[in-house]
Amino acid sequence: MLARRTCSFQPISIQPTIGFVGLGQMGFPMAANLMKKTGSPFVVFDAFPATASKFVENAKDLKAQNQSVSVAATPRDLAAQCDVIVTMLPAGPHVKSVYLDAETGLLAGIKGRNNVLLVDSSTIDVATSKHVAETVGNAGAVMLDAPVSGGTLGAEAGTLTFMVGSPSVTTFNTVKDTILVHMGKNIVHCGTVGNGQVAKICNNMMLGISMVAASETMNLGVRLGMDPKLLAGIINTSSGRCWSTDTYNPCPGVLPNVPASRDYTGGFGTSLMAKDLSLAVSAAHESKSTVTLGAVAHQIYNQVSSQKEFKNKDFSSVYKWLNDNQEKI
Ligand code: NAD
Repeated sequence: MLARRTCSFQPISIQPTIGFVGLGQMGFPMAANLMKKTGSPFVVFDAFPATASKFVENAKDLKAQNQSVSVAATPRDLAAQCDVIVTMLPAGPHVKSVYLDAETGLLAGIKGRNNVLLVDSSTIDVATSKHVAETVGNAGAVMLDAPVSGGTLGAEAGTLTFMVGSPSVTTFNTVKDTILVHMGKNIVHCGTVGNGQVAKICNNMMLGISMVAASETMNLGVRLGMDPKLLAGIINTSSGRCWSTDTYNPCPGVLPNVPASRDYTGGFGTSLMAKDLSLAVSAAHESKSTVTLGAVAHQIYNQVSSQKEFKNKDFSSVYKWLNDNQEKI
């Protein structure tokens, strides 16, 4: 069971009401795990009312006896009923409006109560994350950023990695032990608020670059006459080895259970990778950091995700895109 936090976020024994906003591909299974594993009174909101209703319908088979699961009319309405709120939204503008909209936002719903804890798990830009957290803080509540990796499979299995930016270690530990542990396995304190987003976009910039590198490498080797499995095996026991070659190889047929071997379906979409690279490149621009390869990977994923054929494919489909856009031999 969960514990209601006090102003200093020390757990005590009363059960809090939990709210969840954003029931998409990630949020729906995350909220389902949180609801099921805490047994707490649960309130949800999504921009699409049908999605929220579907959650309540599904909850009938998962929830504890006497556990209430309901739909709020607005984020404000949800916040007025909840002690802890988790948000899982597409991008910065959605987070800003869900938290700060004067009429319907979460902050409007928690006014006057300084014991509400908010956790944003969306992947958004560092500046918006810090701005929203500061505004929430000025109103007396506390907000943490806790973006995730692990994809929809990790969300369903409750094995996500959380990269958490928190104002204090005590708050981090409370949120970890009472909330995040029910949705994730690897929960890391990255420092102050905003640092969760920093860790997330740095990792994903590395991933985007390495996937383009793995795709170019495999494509070149195959065109020069190498067997792809043999080439991957050599790379994976040599200095070129990385996650994009040994765990998620983009060349069809090299690994059995990856998107490349099922026409790039499922997985992490090209548009999400383009979005994360855009966040990394913007953050680099703001901090005057050089990210030459990150910027090139961003341009590549912008092009890939803008094509109808690749828009909804896994990001490793950059291998096929390269293949399709070169002179035939
Ligand atoms: P999604 O588009 O499937 O879900 C977003 C949900 O938010 C939708 O249900 C949508 O209706 C809802 N929503 C949008 N605007 C809203 C608003 N103003 N108020 C309330 N609800 C609103 O996205 P997703 O794939 O679940 O991703 C969510 C976040 O997690 C993104 O920031 C994404 O980058 C990140 N992420 C995604 C994955 C992945 O594999 N899908 C992995 C890691 C991180």
